[in-house]
Amino acid sequence: MFGLIGHSTSFQDARRKAMDLGYDHIAEGDLDVWCTAPPQLVEHVEIVSAVGKTIQGAYIDSCFVPEMLSRFKTARRKVLNAMELAQKKGINITALGGFTSIIFENFNLLKHQHIRNTTLQWERFTTGNTHTAWVICRQLEINAPSVGIDLKKARVAVIGATGDIGSAVCRWLVDRTNVAELLLVARQKQPLLDLQKDLGGGVINTLEEALPKADVVVWVASMPKTLEIDSTNLQSPCLMIDGGYPKNLDAKFSGKGVHILKGGIVEFFTDIGWSMMELAEMDRPQREMFACFAEAMLLEFENCHTNFSWGRNNITLEKMDYIGNASVKHGFSTLNLKTQFQAAVA
Ligand code: NDP
Repeated sequence: MFGLIGHSTSFQDARRKAMDLGYDHIAEGDLDVWCTAPPQLVEHVEIVSAVGKTIQGAYIDSCFVPEMLSRFKTARRKVLNAMELAQKKGINITALGGFTSIIFENFNLLKHQHIRNTTLQWERFTTGNTHTAWVICRQLEINAPSVGIDLKKARVAVIGATGDIGSAVCRWLVDRTNVAELLLVARQKQPLLDLQKDLGGGVINTLEEALPKADVVVWVASMPKTLEIDSTNLQSPCLMIDGGYPKNLDAKFSGKGVHILKGGIVEFFTDIGWSMMELAEMDRPQREMFACFAEAMLLEFENCHTNFSWGRNNITLEKMDYIGNASVKHGFSTLNLKTQFQAAVA
């Protein structure tokens, strides 16, 4: 069985969802009440892949909401409790979705393997970052030419280049896509220098330097909400792939040669018959999902029960090939500008 650990996008959404599910006593509570609410396994699902393999899965709502991010101990407890529940339910491989993987890594939850009388088995969990990185690279390769960008001549900026996903994207762009120039953007200097050495290339830029020059911008960083972009200062055409969570870019930048694509999103070939992606505000929640969630499904389809994506900067091109091949085989495709546009006008 595969599992997905997620959360609502806001406290307000979480309350509405709890009311729909009949958890009135929690729904009516304030944020302090929600801070003590245990995780809930809210949905079971059965999925048949494009090659006829059937798997079972479950969605666990961690009862975390982004408003709790500043409450360090609460956020930590929410993630660990949800992982404990997944393990106790016997789930083989569970993806940490949304903020839960960020909390796991940034709060160093590897130190917290013992929850009450449970020892968390890390091999039952994955961040899903390998599939996310592969999906973003394929989105770039498919969509840049469709808006008139020749990748062999293009400058590509990766915002969040030194991160787990960003560094994997950079390796792929250098080794596989062969873009003309790679611009590496992050705040800390030393990891950028290490990455540049590791890649054997790439130009270190600030965000302000990179944006006006780039034909393609890959966003794989959670940026401050106050981020302002002067869209008149960008290349035209310019493809922006927004892989961050929450999404960094507003669709208001689209137009006049600027194309914004939601990054790290995949579409299944058929309706799944679940309600869990409505929480994640997907345009087509019966088919679309975060690539990290899909990674847990793929690992279950492939009987590959291991913490496939784990820790920082462990994503290899071979692992991206493996998960990418599985993705295509079992019926996933990347979200592209055309499908995104069709969903927007539907
Ligand atoms: P990491 O924490 O490993 O990396 C974040 C990167 O962003 C680092 O390079 C960091 O470097 C950089 N960064 C952070 N803030 C800024 C800033 N203000 N300006 C420039 N660079 C910045 O994160 P991951 O690679 O694990 O995840 C990246 C993003 O992808 C996250 O937003 C995550 O939520 C999202 N994601 C999406 C998924 C999907 O399925 N669609 C799945 C998993 C993750 P520095 O600190 O030096 O600035």
